[in-house]
Amino acid sequence: MFLAKFIKNLPRRQTGRKKLIISFVILICLFIYLLPKDIKINLYHQTASVFFVDSIDPAKLKEKPLVKILIVPGHDNEYWGTEHKGVKEADLNVELAEYLYDFLKNEERFDVSLLRDSKGYDAEYLDYFNGSRQAIFGFLQRHKKIMNTLIQVGILSFEEPFSNGIGYSQSVSKVASNLYGINKWSNEHEMDIVLHIHFNDYYGRPHDKEGKYSGLTIYVPEKQYSNAKASRSLAESISENLGRLFAYSNLPFEEDDQGIVENQEFIATGSYNTLDAVGLLIEYGYIYEPKFMGSGTRKIVLQEMASQTYFGIKKYFNEIVEDDEIFVLPHRWDYDLKYGMQNSVDIFALQMFLNQQGFYPPKWSNLSNCPISGYFGSCTLKSVKEFQKNNNIEPANGLVGPLTREKLNEIK
Ligand SMILES: [Zn+2]
Repeated sequence: MFLAKFIKNLPRRQTGRKKLIISFVILICLFIYLLPKDIKINLYHQTASVFFVDSIDPAKLKEKPLVKILIVPGHDNEYWGTEHKGVKEADLNVELAEYLYDFLKNEERFDVSLLRDSKGYDAEYLDYFNGSRQAIFGFLQRHKKIMNTLIQVGILSFEEPFSNGIGYSQSVSKVASNLYGINKWSNEHEMDIVLHIHFNDYYGRPHDKEGKYSGLTIYVPEKQYSNAKASRSLAESISENLGRLFAYSNLPFEEDDQGIVENQEFIATGSYNTLDAVGLLIEYGYIYEPKFMGSGTRKIVLQEMASQTYFGIKKYFNEIVEDDEIFVLPHRWDYDLKYGMQNSVDIFALQMFLNQQGFYPPKWSNLSNCPISGYFGSCTLKSVKEFQKNNNIEPANGLVGPLTREKLNEIK
């Protein structure tokens, strides 16, 4: 237990402390390497538990009076991620991130920063990325060395590329360097939460055609990482909120309970144990989904997704949120709506309203085959008919005319 004592006596500041721990762990690993085999395994275990000690504890995090949050819209103007029919992922990421930032910054409890907005990178980060390339590289190499040593002696179980030596490569791309830079910067500034915002796609989708998958996924660090527990607990709160209104991904390997998937390799969530803070990578859906493509619905959809993320964070920190709070509601319906109409905020709000009232998605369907999307198709038609029957509106033909609108506008 001398290790535990040693760690306790290290300086308080987290980054200085972590640096010392890292150098210490490397030394210990080299030393243990020379010992007989049976003693070796035992000591390695103890060493690993020090490097992989929880960097952030869910219970303590929830009690923090001031929570530091960094929002990172994925990609940038140089490398914009995926694209569909002229809509670039980087732009969607920024738009949603800006809404989320606006929601969070009004709360005293949260100290929130945005890495990039529609005008570009924040100048402070840009200086940091460009001025710290060597330091970021060194930071990464130190973490890689420890992980690879612990993997080689069988203490940690990580899949390739961690176990095949690629971890020792001598160069990192600019994109990877920036992402590790975000982790290093976040550790140095004692961030509590780092949220990466993305929209999904998959390899092999025919160009300019809608793909076959849809839905959202929240990636969290694999359970061996230091930030795993707290990350998972926040992810659960956010995914519960988003999942009430938007389907989880139906891509086979992303089909997990609550749309949460563990990942070992994403830099964003802290690969090589490089991130102390909670690290989440949220894929809000597939870029080609009609609700993101429609110019009439995109804004309200992104605002609603940002607001549900915000409510999920608030709930996690035991801040009060109305249980059925929906950004787009209450709404006033001034125009008739019917089957076949699309790309409309009125329809999006109608679907949300019917969802709240228990009519949408209709019986025998779910949010994956009947998404809340702003498109008035057969799902909405069935739901409106049910609503009309329940409210004695005749004929219950699914047309949202004056009588139905009056009822919609009346119920709060
Ligand atoms: Zn992306």
